[in-house]
Amino acid sequence: MADTPIPLEVRNIKKRFGDTEVLKGLSLTARKGDVITLIGASGSGKSTFLRCMNLLEQPDEGDLIVHGEEIRFKQTRYGREPADWKQVVRMRAKLSMVFQSFNLWAHMTLLENIIEAPVHVLGKPKKEAIEHARALLERVGLTARADAYPAQMSGGQQQRGAIARALAMDPEVMLFDEPTSALDPELVGDVLKVMHGLADEGRTMVVVTHEMSFARDVSSEVIYLHQGLVEEAGPPQDVLANPQSPRLQQFLAPKY
Ligand code: ADP
Ligand code: MG
Repeated sequence: MADTPIPLEVRNIKKRFGDTEVLKGLSLTARKGDVITLIGASGSGKSTFLRCMNLLEQPDEGDLIVHGEEIRFKQTRYGREPADWKQVVRMRAKLSMVFQSFNLWAHMTLLENIIEAPVHVLGKPKKEAIEHARALLERVGLTARADAYPAQMSGGQQQRGAIARALAMDPEVMLFDEPTSALDPELVGDVLKVMHGLADEGRTMVVVTHEMSFARDVSSEVIYLHQGLVEEAGPPQDVLANPQSPRLQQFLAPKY
């Protein structure tokens, strides 16, 4: 039997904004159940790298292979862009993204937010989508908030809601961009607990984070970026517990 396809392969991604090359050739392979954490100083390119993975930014060079399907690009006079946006829609359904600022739709209840894409993108029957959504709400501890609007929820609840919404697509890979950075400190733990649970059940994840204890506990691989390049990468027991690069040593040193 053929091996199951690798959820996400990214090869030699380069990206420039104007004259500045912010990604200088980045690669990553997320196999099933991998939790890859991206760490690095502000401005090192973490968000841009993540956004290139689901084509919220268009990489100037490099390959993306999602669940065995290579994304096709074409050159235009404005630069490189996807050759087939239908393919992009299909691949995005497999890569759910959770952002730093909880981006639930303000005019929809939490439940409506969660069923939106399954019903309108995947064409799931509404009844089935609602059942699935209720199960997901229970998982993230928000059963009681199904009919609340985002503005009526705490930041931590909104972020757990955003995770439930991402899960509703049953994605191959979940991409997280600093999902706890905008939260009040007392709300961070609940969100990390949900993410721990996802890692434990074997979800494939790529997570930009500053939560080093989370990175240490759940990562299969930690990638430290510096100015758009991988400075050091490997399992957390090497990269976090025994960093080789002086820059990473300094990055990890306690800041008092
Ligand atoms: P990080 O997430 O690690 O803080 P970013 O990926 O957001 O880093 O940014 C990397 C670099 O790219 C920064 O110098 C940032 O100013 C620049 N950058 C990011 N997005 C844009 C954009 N849309 N236009 C111009 N420059 C950008
Ligand atoms: Mg960022």
